Amino acid sequence: MIYDFAITGAGIAGASIAAELAEGGARVVVLEAEDAPGYHATGRSAAFWEECYGGPELVPLTLASGPYLRDHGFLTQRGALYIGRDADEPKLHGFLNRFAETGATIERLERGPLEAKLPGLREEWTGAIWEPACADIDVAGLHQHYLSRARKAGAKIVCRARLRQAKRREAVWNLRTVGLSFDAATLVNSAGAWADGVAKLVGAEPLSIAPLRRTVVQLRLAAPPPPDLPLTLDISGRFYFKPEAGRLWLSPHDEEPSQPCDAAPEELAVAEAIARLEEVVDWQVEAVERKWAGLRSFAPDRLPVYGYDPQVEGFAWFAGQGGFGIQTSPAAARLAGQLLLNNVRDAMTEGLDASLYAPDRFS
Ligand SMILES: Cc1cc2nc3c(=O)[nH]c(=O)nc-3n(C[C@H](O)[C@H](O)[C@H](O)COP(=O)(O)OP(=O)(O)OC[C@H]3O[C@@H](n4cnc5c(N)ncnc54)[C@H](O)[C@@H]3O)c2cc1C
Repeated sequence: MIYDFAITGAGIAGASIAAELAEGGARVVVLEAEDAPGYHATGRSAAFWEECYGGPELVPLTLASGPYLRDHGFLTQRGALYIGRDADEPKLHGFLNRFAETGATIERLERGPLEAKLPGLREEWTGAIWEPACADIDVAGLHQHYLSRARKAGAKIVCRARLRQAKRREAVWNLRTVGLSFDAATLVNSAGAWADGVAKLVGAEPLSIAPLRRTVVQLRLAAPPPPDLPLTLDISGRFYFKPEAGRLWLSPHDEEPSQPCDAAPEELAVAEAIARLEEVVDWQVEAVERKWAGLRSFAPDRLPVYGYDPQVEGFAWFAGQGGFGIQTSPAAARLAGQLLLNNVRDAMTEGLDASLYAPDRFS
């Protein structure tokens, strides 16, 4: 059997593009290196949908994805605050200007209303940007939803199948894993932190997609955080935190360059996270209950990469999903599916500028 598309990686990227391609009538196989889908970045996220996250060029993808996520029950409203001190005033102002024309709903908050949303806030934090639409995402539910859509449309998902070799003859790839062999017309690179390595396997130019480690800790506080506490981010990018089932999820917003690997948290990042939290609120930390790290993988311009490789025939990218791969997944996968199948745009994707995310922008 010759598949139309073989997809490497069954994280949110591979699962969502598999669903779109299979529902578009293509014969699809997904090769996942691990024992189960979702072991790497997808299973380690902080699980938020935040309109401004990733910068203005990402906002169209996030906004286009919102209705799908909301309508399918994957979002729970939370709201987000970007907070700053007096000296951060230019940053707060700059943020409002940067996102003013994007369609994101943001407004300026002064100390009074900010304090009401964030009890225990230390007095030097004087202003914020409020983003009411920010929501928690049910990441596991969304990932399963895509895997199930893909399977129902006939896609085959094969785990313990790390792609090791790819040879192209007469417009067909022969793809080898340990002990298995697949033939496919097109190979889609959804390998997350391993995307450049997969490009090298097929003889394509790597795009310098860099894995950066991000740490999250789960804290038990002396008094549990209010369940409706907003996602709180530093306007200078030094931390974020949000409540999760009576605990606090906190990140030092680290971006440590890494090899593609099974990322693990460093003690220093955990200590930094707690020290930064203590600069912000007077809450008492009782214990670090859990800590984890994952790799967020970025192209050099920090925008994702969707579409056919400009040089290697039958090779396509759906990678560089950075810190936004969950929240943008519906529109990203729909757009990439349309590009790969050469289909016309629909209501979800008609406003998107695919050239921003095209692999040939690096040529
Ligand atoms: C700590 C943290 C917090 C985050 N928070 C958020 C958030 O709040 N909101 C948001 O939208 N995003 C968030 N992200 C980003 C999001 O998790 C990623 O953008 C997204 O999961 C990337 O999905 P992916 O499928 O590209 O990568 P992955 O989930 O890493 O999947 C890639 C898969 O490819 C497989 N693979 C690799 N090489 C091969 C090969 N040769 N053969 C077969 N399979 C292979 C791997 O085993 C892996 O399963 C966060 C990320 C981290 C680490």
